Amino acid sequence: MATSPVEKQAFAAEVDQVLSIVVNSLYSHKEVFLRELISNASDALDKLAFEALTDHALVAKGEELRIEIEADEKQKTLTIRDNGIGMTREELTRNLGTIARSGSRELMAALRQKGDDKNLSLIGQFGVGFYSAFLVADRVSVVSRSARSEESWRWESEAKDGFTIESAQRDGRGTDIVLHLKEDCAEYLQAWQLQNLVRKYSDYVRHPIRMPRQKDGKTEWDTVNQANALWTRSKADIGDEQYREFYRHLAHDWTDPLAWTHFRVEGTQSLTGLLFLPSKAPLDLFERKNKGVRLFVKRVFIMEDCQELLPEWLRFVRGVVDSEDLPLNVSREILQQDRVTRQIRKQVVKKTLTLLEELAKEGTTLVPRSPDDDEDDKDAGDAAAGDQVERNRYEEFWRNFGTVLKEGIHVEQEHKTDIAQLLRYESTRESGLTSLHDYVARMPQDQPGIYYVTGDSIETCRRCPQLEGLRKKGYEVLYMADPVDEWVVRDLAEFEEKKLIDASKGALDLPESDAEKEAREAKAAELGDLLGAVKASLEDVVKDVRSSNRLAESPACLVGDEGDLSPHLERILRAHGQAVPEQKRILELNPDHPIVKAMQGMAADAGRTQELGEWSHLLYDQAMLAEGTLPKDPSGFARRIAELMQKVVGR
Ligand code: ADP
Repeated sequence: MATSPVEKQAFAAEVDQVLSIVVNSLYSHKEVFLRELISNASDALDKLAFEALTDHALVAKGEELRIEIEADEKQKTLTIRDNGIGMTREELTRNLGTIARSGSRELMAALRQKGDDKNLSLIGQFGVGFYSAFLVADRVSVVSRSARSEESWRWESEAKDGFTIESAQRDGRGTDIVLHLKEDCAEYLQAWQLQNLVRKYSDYVRHPIRMPRQKDGKTEWDTVNQANALWTRSKADIGDEQYREFYRHLAHDWTDPLAWTHFRVEGTQSLTGLLFLPSKAPLDLFERKNKGVRLFVKRVFIMEDCQELLPEWLRFVRGVVDSEDLPLNVSREILQQDRVTRQIRKQVVKKTLTLLEELAKEGTTLVPRSPDDDEDDKDAGDAAAGDQVERNRYEEFWRNFGTVLKEGIHVEQEHKTDIAQLLRYESTRESGLTSLHDYVARMPQDQPGIYYVTGDSIETCRRCPQLEGLRKKGYEVLYMADPVDEWVVRDLAEFEEKKLIDASKGALDLPESDAEKEAREAKAAELGDLLGAVKASLEDVVKDVRSSNRLAESPACLVGDEGDLSPHLERILRAHGQAVPEQKRILELNPDHPIVKAMQGMAADAGRTQELGEWSHLLYDQAMLAEGTLPKDPSGFARRIAELMQKVVGR
């Protein structure tokens, strides 16, 4: 084979930057490089084992799939070697030279936005992977030979300015990652230190990790990890830290998982599952990539990201499922229509919901403060006694993944009620998140249903004039500021037999005494002339003008009819390019408000018709503003305000 010249290539956009951020910010945690590289090697072995299921020639009879770690004191190199799937020239370039992971661009943007390029939790969500090699090495050389090729290639980089790629020699398929250690990283040449790191971070790796030892002039290879699949061990034998490490390995996450569930199901369907909830949402949560669960059949790795096992609305779950019943040669096509798959999926959903219910029940607990608590985490709970902090794991979960979970209400009829129990909202009670169940438990006897308002933010909801009357009456109103909530309330319609009622729609049928009713009707009757006059001047924009029982401090608000789209939903749909027909709404006036009373005076005076018209428009526009919609004619609004102000100053 003709030797090809060394070819130099620049890294694809932003690799340089991501690299330097990773190296700078993770420097004090640099030992994780070993875990990351071993994880990659283990994945490469899994991929090979899977291919070998159908192509037996790929692995020689009796050949052991393994990872080797070898230090060379003289050269000051550390090599992590695997006989896994390997990489072709093209794969080396693509996998190690471009940012393959979609999150990197988002990572850069998020870091810039925070103005803090040492933000550990953000980098954790990104996952450092292969780049962690540069934490300890100033030069990294990767020699690889793909299982499907006769050629070997060397990829080499000093991180700073791109990489080179050239033809190389390697016996057999697999990959050597050769780290030319930095001056101050010589400790990673010591066998005991490496062994400790393997036991600490990679004990659960399913493949043997071997290290050489000289005995009687010969090299023996000791296995330094337990080398069995963590999930096959009994729960009693697994420590929390091992679960955490396993999660980090599996999810390529930096942060600890929030919670996990490890279960075995026996019977017609036998399977073992180990499912984790991450503690932070990944940057690509909304790209709808479902990379949650890895499927194994009888300990043999079958596939990553097994979408058939995990519904989209649980796409934040990470874990493994090991089935005893699926055939080893199972393919995506088989999985899609297999009855066994459906049953496994059912179990995954059930166990995840149970885990969430348990977390929700746990409430707020005191936990030791962790040294890694960053600023974000501190907000979650105020420091309690000494080095303990309050923690509500379910609320953490909810703030990260609640939006995704809510999608389940729309798509999963079967679990609608279970998911509804898990919903959390802020409310006029202003004391944090509440469940619908607790809301219902607090409802006064005469309250007709569960009130809510929707808006772009909690702040808009909070200021929503439509809920003033309810607040005054002592009825709690839920703030729904998440776009999916519009669908949640439609799909749910009721909870524990209480209707969900939009506080800004329809006539509010508030319970009232006879005296209250009389007084309300009398006021409405007094408004009579005014209502007609305002309606006449706003004919083009509103479908009716009426007296309101939902206002306390504000003079007016806009409401929809029962079946109308809420203005919030209208804005969402428009933002997504959907043609939403113009909807006229109903303007409600507060009969007790001084402005409305003043307008009653104008309505009685034929000479002030024009003034009344101007005021009507002002009322309408400010009602729009109050719910976050810009007036249709902003300059008209500004002109009217200016005229009014001029009047006040007497010119
Ligand atoms: P991640 O593992 O999160 O995808 P990495 O940066 O760690 O990201 O690795 C990028 C890619 O390089 C991997 O997805 C894999 O395809 C490839 N790769 C890394 N290490 C190895 C290895 N030892 N053998 C084969 N492929 C590897």
